[in-house]
Amino acid sequence: MKTLKIAIQKSGRLSEKSLELIRECDINLTQGKRRLIAASTDFPLQILYLRDDDIPQYVADRVADIGIVGENEVMEKAKKVNLLRRLGFARCRMSLAIPQDESYKGLQWFKGKRIATSYPNILKDYLRKTRTDAQIEEINGSVEIAPSVGLADSIFDIVSSGSTLVSNRLKEVEIVCKSEAVIIASQSLSEEKKKILTSLLFRIDTVLRSKGNKYILLNAPNDKVREITQVLPGMKSPTVMPLYKKGWSSLHSVVNEKDFWNVVDKLKELGAEGILVIPIEKMIF
Ligand code: ATP
Ligand code: MG
Repeated sequence: MKTLKIAIQKSGRLSEKSLELIRECDINLTQGKRRLIAASTDFPLQILYLRDDDIPQYVADRVADIGIVGENEVMEKAKKVNLLRRLGFARCRMSLAIPQDESYKGLQWFKGKRIATSYPNILKDYLRKTRTDAQIEEINGSVEIAPSVGLADSIFDIVSSGSTLVSNRLKEVEIVCKSEAVIIASQSLSEEKKKILTSLLFRIDTVLRSKGNKYILLNAPNDKVREITQVLPGMKSPTVMPLYKKGWSSLHSVVNEKDFWNVVDKLKELGAEGILVIPIEKMIF
């Protein structure tokens, strides 16, 4: 039987979450990360543990069929791969930052300045599009210290909370693009591998969908049930069951995380009581 090869980061900010996603798809892995390759005992999947920088190339060259990697690496390497899913973790932005005490009025600040970065291609593209004439200093790590040691005047790097910038007395002045973990695939997969991929993506979609949703149970007086069902859409419509106590019902539904607190506030206003919220493991339509 053919197996699908998936490349994930060996160790770093993506590796835990990538493995977690595979586990949440109920795919068990035999070997740990000490080996380069691990296989699954219950799904035709092999894992290749790699440096994240190498993943786009491995997928483009079909050494791996698919991979989980930061969109930033996909953009930087610009290899021919298909982007299949955004995964919602390792969210960050790619920004230009300059010393805190500089006054900044716009991109013209960068004219003739040196910008240190590990993402020269994304930066080059941005500078070209914005017609900004600056010099790129390519370095591989610790970009944020480049201005203080005099290697550059500014930086272009990954930012999430911004605390690294603050501790290096830098300020973010332009957001160039955003990034999150994505699944990429090689452009030509055999029919057999496509089949495995479809079944893997079905599981992944099921897991991702359930992540944003919660199961909600509550009690409400019967005369409020109608109004409450309007606040609680559910997958089709909420389940309503009579309580043993006369004049009361129990309502069950699914609520999305993004409007969760809004919904809960409205439910309380409408007289809902005993609200229980439970995580959902899988959602299949
Ligand atoms: P490797 O050794 O595999 O080359 P690395 O040091 O290049 O690892 P990490 O720091 O582990 O990379 O980051 C991996 C990816 O995680 C980045 O390419 C980016 O997509 C994302 N990332 C990096 N920093 C952050 C952050 N602070 N917040 C959220 N996501 C981040
Ligand atoms: Mg790397």
